[in-house]
Amino acid sequence: MKADTLPRRRVEAVPSDPVQKSEVQTADDLRARTCPVCLATNFAPHFTTRGIPIESCESCGLLLQNPQPSDSDLAEIYGPHYFIGSDEDAELAAQFEIVKRATARLQLEELDAYLGKRGRAARGLRLLEIGCGHGNMLIEARASGYEVNGIEFSADAAAIANQKLGIEAVRVGSTSLAGFPDRSFDVCILADVIEHIRDPRAFLHDVWRMLDHHSTIFIATPSVDSWSARLLGRHWMEFKREHLFYFGMATIERLLTETGFADVTLGGGKKVLTPAYIIGHFDKFPVAVLSPVLRMGRSLAPSVLLQTKLKITASGIDVYATKP
Ligand SMILES: [Zn+2]
Repeated sequence: MKADTLPRRRVEAVPSDPVQKSEVQTADDLRARTCPVCLATNFAPHFTTRGIPIESCESCGLLLQNPQPSDSDLAEIYGPHYFIGSDEDAELAAQFEIVKRATARLQLEELDAYLGKRGRAARGLRLLEIGCGHGNMLIEARASGYEVNGIEFSADAAAIANQKLGIEAVRVGSTSLAGFPDRSFDVCILADVIEHIRDPRAFLHDVWRMLDHHSTIFIATPSVDSWSARLLGRHWMEFKREHLFYFGMATIERLLTETGFADVTLGGGKKVLTPAYIIGHFDKFPVAVLSPVLRMGRSLAPSVLLQTKLKITASGIDVYATKP
């Protein structure tokens, strides 16, 4: 599962085993004490937005939610209706699928270009997507020649992905990668996942271990350096309970190099969207003022316009890096 907002690709987010712990967590338990990027221990209040306390690392500037939501809060957020496409009407669900597949193709083209510059090609590479949702990226990746595997937190979504793929390529699981042997993949995809993880540094160490030498990691995540973040400030749509960290160009690059990756390439996070998708998204994840205005737009606009594919760079970054 990953989370979705206007420019994000999908709605499937990966909590770090929120449902498996039963002890009550206090605000003190949930306070981040060490910055995952630079290991500093001093945070300053940044602002509170929609009830979400945002702090910044005084050393590297990373923005984070602090304290983090409890496991039970996250489990509630990631309910069965969290997925885009989980309970929409058939027409809208079809729109979501079109948009996700087109975005996956766009990201795979960029991945191919990154690999190509390093003398590698997709064919035969072992690809793992963590938080693969309904499997749209995996379907496109397989068409490009990758051997595909996925991990998905939601059993329902994993079943849909396996059905679409026609093979049992997706296992149900959290972001714990303990079951995977060292060096078992050549490519790892984390699309709209890392901002949901309680300890992204430990997680990337684990991804690094699981990747073979000369492997590539692709991360798509919201960016505080995006035009929408700069324009909207504390009203940025990516400030949400399930997003625990808010990276920018410098902090994501540093986190990757600190965890052993090299050759980091950063670019604006490109998404393919249709107006129908954007409106449907804001129906599902309402934003005051915007959602009703968009709903009105849907009732007025001709359907051909609503289904026009638009290539948009709105709130994220696409990051590629290599395990040497
Ligand atoms: Zn820091």
